[in-house]
Amino acid sequence: MVRAVVFDLDYTLAVPTRDRETILAEAVETADAPPLSREAYLEAHGRNLTRETREPIFADLLAERETDADPAALARAYREAIADALEPLPGVEGMLADLRGEYLVGLLTNGPVRAQRDKLATLGWEDAFDAALVTGELEAGKPAPAAFEAIAAALEVDPADAVYVGDDPEADVYGATNAGMDAIQVLLEDGPDPDPRAVAHVEQSSLATAVPEVVADLE
Ligand SMILES: [Mg+2]
Repeated sequence: MVRAVVFDLDYTLAVPTRDRETILAEAVETADAPPLSREAYLEAHGRNLTRETREPIFADLLAERETDADPAALARAYREAIADALEPLPGVEGMLADLRGEYLVGLLTNGPVRAQRDKLATLGWEDAFDAALVTGELEAGKPAPAAFEAIAAALEVDPADAVYVGDDPEADVYGATNAGMDAIQVLLEDGPDPDPRAVAHVEQSSLATAVPEVVADLE
């Protein structure tokens, strides 16, 4: 029985209107830092999933370079640029409200506390979920089972009674199924490929209509 639907945030419910490479370049310029690649950023992000802010991520990146740039200033510039550029996918707010009429609705997002909480504030979604957890507040990030167990506990449901919706095959699809939840994979235009571990796949562009249908069919 499906009692709860839990969502990933980035690229699942909301997308940046400018690409992350551009946003990173803007933040680097604002903070007077040396050029940083998106690839290097993602590696450093993966080493710092349970932090309060992005400062340790940028401290990691800047430590490898000759610079006096301040990681805190860079983290702030990046946070502001990202939050400014984030937009909900079409129909998502109505979908969340409708789902809450029938299910508990949760959010579990990987990343530093202030970065992710700022996104929710910018989107006006602080009250859009029955429970919303940022892995920066937890002991481990996705795909660790502890992260999925934490959101199930916050919603007061058994993981087996929750469905997780996310775009990342490793963090979301593997993570959720490994923790005992069904997973619905959100497919982006440019990949990755559908993961067979997901119970269903929905196109990102039609997520708001597709997810409620898929969830209803799972019952
Ligand atoms: Mg995502």
